[in-house]
Amino acid sequence: MFHPCTDPIIFLASTVIKGMLMKFSHLFGPVCSRRLGRSLGIDLVPFKTCTYDCVYCECGHTTHKGTDRKEFFPVSEVLSELDAYLSGGPALDFITFSGSGEPTLSTSVGEVIRYLKREFPSYRVAVLTNGSLFSLPEVREDLLLADVVLPTLSTVHEETFRTIHHPAKDLSLKSILNGIEQFRREYRGEIWLEVFIIPGVNTSDKELSGLADEIRRIRPDRIQLNTLDRPGPAEWVKPAGPGELSRIQAFLGVPDTEAIHSSHHESPFSPDESDPSQTICELIRRRPCTVDDIAQTTGLHRNEVLKLLRTIESEHQLLVKREKRGVFYFLRDNP
Ligand code: SF4
Repeated sequence: MFHPCTDPIIFLASTVIKGMLMKFSHLFGPVCSRRLGRSLGIDLVPFKTCTYDCVYCECGHTTHKGTDRKEFFPVSEVLSELDAYLSGGPALDFITFSGSGEPTLSTSVGEVIRYLKREFPSYRVAVLTNGSLFSLPEVREDLLLADVVLPTLSTVHEETFRTIHHPAKDLSLKSILNGIEQFRREYRGEIWLEVFIIPGVNTSDKELSGLADEIRRIRPDRIQLNTLDRPGPAEWVKPAGPGELSRIQAFLGVPDTEAIHSSHHESPFSPDESDPSQTICELIRRRPCTVDDIAQTTGLHRNEVLKLLRTIESEHQLLVKREKRGVFYFLRDNP
């Protein structure tokens, strides 16, 4: 939901890895992320299956919203793909559960983490999650062996929570906060908390005081302030500027806070060097990108990207949006 080793993530242009990953359906990347370094992604849920429908989600609106956990794909498929990919001993900083939905909705997440720790113990495992299901003991237990868990916290006020996240109807903020606090008590790994800042929504003194108190209860190992980096589903959401982020950092007054500019979900994207046009379609169908984003991600020259965008435009409904950071291109025709 994220870059050369600065945010936003770029997908490494390694020819070997591109070739290798073309045959995988549940693995993507490796991506190079400012937070997680070189990270292999695992996507356990179908596109936009989530407990939230966040106003800032760069993957667009949630199409399957709910809290029912299930095995979306046979876990044996995922384990086989991991065996095939990891048997070559690739250099990775993290194996990361991510994608364009909420990974803890999958009942396979615990089994896959345990498998990785048993069969490939040299790799560190991270989970990018919105934390909404942490009130469930089985979800907390599933994540116990992960090395780093990165949950989201944007507010401690129910009304603001609903404005930002449009949660599934059976979710309540209070039980989510209790769940994250309980997870902190049970979990021995690192928690890196993502706080998504939306100017005018969760930036008042009342909002920030509530966040600061909650952060003290959760005691995360790191806090990352995040803000809009590319167009989301809600037009009214604007990014916080560097000055605003610095002010909030100072207000929260907690150590190990940093400002980042990317969504908490890495994009499930597997480059296909044999069909760069298809690669670009896959990328911009999942997240709006500027020409430079696409060039960095794919390793293509920006002139080549422009040419391919013209080809794509003749076959698809290519949407264009001008934002402060540049002109973003995206497809919404066939998620
Ligand atoms: S930002 Fe993450 S939690 Fe929010 S809707 Fe998108 S995938 Fe779900």
